Amino acid sequence: MKCGRCDNVAAYSRKYSGENLCRNCFSDSILQKTARAISKYNMIKSGDVVGVAVSGGKDSLSLLHVLKKMSESHNFKIKAITIDEGISGYRDEALEIVKNFCDNIGVEYKVFSYKELFDITLEESLELRENEKISSCSICGTLRRRAIDFGGKDLGVDVIATGHNLDDVLQTFVINIISGDTNKIGWMDPDTSSNKTRKIKPFCEIYENEIVFYAFVNEIPFQSEQCPHMNEGIRTEIREFLNSLENKHSGIKNNMYKSIMRISSVVKDSNYKQRKICSKCGSECTGDICSVCSMLVNLKRD
Ligand code: SF4
Ligand code: ZN
Repeated sequence: MKCGRCDNVAAYSRKYSGENLCRNCFSDSILQKTARAISKYNMIKSGDVVGVAVSGGKDSLSLLHVLKKMSESHNFKIKAITIDEGISGYRDEALEIVKNFCDNIGVEYKVFSYKELFDITLEESLELRENEKISSCSICGTLRRRAIDFGGKDLGVDVIATGHNLDDVLQTFVINIISGDTNKIGWMDPDTSSNKTRKIKPFCEIYENEIVFYAFVNEIPFQSEQCPHMNEGIRTEIREFLNSLENKHSGIKNNMYKSIMRISSVVKDSNYKQRKICSKCGSECTGDICSVCSMLVNLKRD
């Protein structure tokens, strides 16, 4: 089968659009889709320093690869921020992969650890937790958001980019719905112009399987071993459910994404009116104390 955009042999069939693409045209299409999302939501402004949060997985390394290419022809710079949660036997391999990748493509990077920022590693915090219902990933994710903010300030970046793809957005939406956390739905709106530290997800309109293929085609070395806590939460089940729907009805994820964006911008407007300042750390939040401070207080209580 021939590529729909050139004379090469097609290597990828995009089921939801019916397009067949060769390796080069596929890679170009990912760059174009990313560029479209960046300009649609004004994610990067001229002269920005973009801090890319890089874990060592396929999404974040592919994002670094894409943004590095774009930065060569556009007026912005990139730096990489890596978070070490303190998960023994897992994070070390990823740190090594990130270091080598950044050295190879010439990107400045810095590692920030939970231990040095919060005086507690993820493993230690899991031992201290009293309520077993709080999943490892929700503790880890809350600390990671704060750690990335800190890293961004430390490196003097204007905006922080994460590798979240369209599948991540859909899964997070379903998790927020079934956990009753409607406030968080407002955080999903890609328009971050009113936030203090802007957070952007340039891959938010790209399917996860296309990021995997991009990494493969571009020979991006990523960590394949999964975090030992990955299957403790409900995310994996939701991911499989959405994948099975997409297999039977291609394009369903794109439709769901569009609906989520509409709902999210409505919820965001109503959250914005109720926002407060955390009495402990001064971050914006919706209660008297932010989620990070309240979690650390609970964990470290004797
Ligand atoms: Fe943290 Fe969960 Fe990711 Fe592991 S899978 S690094 S615990 S968020
Ligand atoms: Zn082609």
